[in-house]
Amino acid sequence: MKVFDYKADLQKELRDLAQKNKKIGFVPTMGALHEGHISLIKKSASDNDITIVSIFVNPNQFNDKKDLENYPRFIDKDINLLKNAGCDFVFTPSVKEIYTEEDNRIFDFGDLDKVMEGKHRVGHFNGVAQVVSKLFNIVNPDVAYFGRKDFQQYVIIKKMVEILNIPIKIIACPIVREKDGLAMSSRNLLLSKDQRKNSSFISETLFKARNLINKLNVKELKDWVVDTINSNPFLEVEYFDIVDDVELKSINNWQEQNNNVGCIAVKVGKIRLIDNINFNL
Ligand code: AMP
Repeated sequence: MKVFDYKADLQKELRDLAQKNKKIGFVPTMGALHEGHISLIKKSASDNDITIVSIFVNPNQFNDKKDLENYPRFIDKDINLLKNAGCDFVFTPSVKEIYTEEDNRIFDFGDLDKVMEGKHRVGHFNGVAQVVSKLFNIVNPDVAYFGRKDFQQYVIIKKMVEILNIPIKIIACPIVREKDGLAMSSRNLLLSKDQRKNSSFISETLFKARNLINKLNVKELKDWVVDTINSNPFLEVEYFDIVDDVELKSINNWQEQNNNVGCIAVKVGKIRLIDNINFNL
């Protein structure tokens, strides 16, 4: 496995591989790697000849400065983990290496980035699109892998490649959870012991909600999820919505769409966690 800090070095290596017609898979991450990330890397390694992982904490996607400062960083540990995960190249650029100059691009994703995460973290998805489009330009992979954990992000990246005519296939991978059901996240590391223990109540409630779709209408179910989670003193729901999986529009009755996703953000003290679940009929 080779580690590159500079895009020119990585691109030199990639040019040689392109001449040999190697199929390239790419997994962008912000590091503090866990089994969720590793599942994407393993999928890429099984689908492609070469797998590239980037580790870059992108300042442009943080709307909260404190969140950026506190974001966990374990670069040496990450590189060790990647050695056994099927990764061939790791790209670890500095902020200057990615943003050689200020990126002022504004993307138009229609309503996709006006709801849920986009509504509560204004500018977040524009920053994600800035960095992912730059990374796509540098790496130029055949396929890129994203987790369904960040479901809205996956939908927006798919829209981005469509808008920009980028010929990269976007694959979504299932959410990897801890034993108690909590969706794995680098931010889980920031939770206290009590907060961590109580956070599994989020997914527990979502799983129960899935069994209630024959008994409750959409509004009743949304209220039930919010009230149930808020009854735990460690947790405070920021939003919970049930949307279709293409346009991310709120549904009003179960028959409206077949592929519904319930997306949630919960504050656990100062830490903000997200999760989602399919409500397919
Ligand atoms: P991040 O480092 O948080 O930016 O995540 C990098 C990629 O890993 C994104 O595509 C995430 O959706 C994905 N990812 C993060 N956590 C999980 C998880 N628990 N299960 C599956 N994919 C995940």
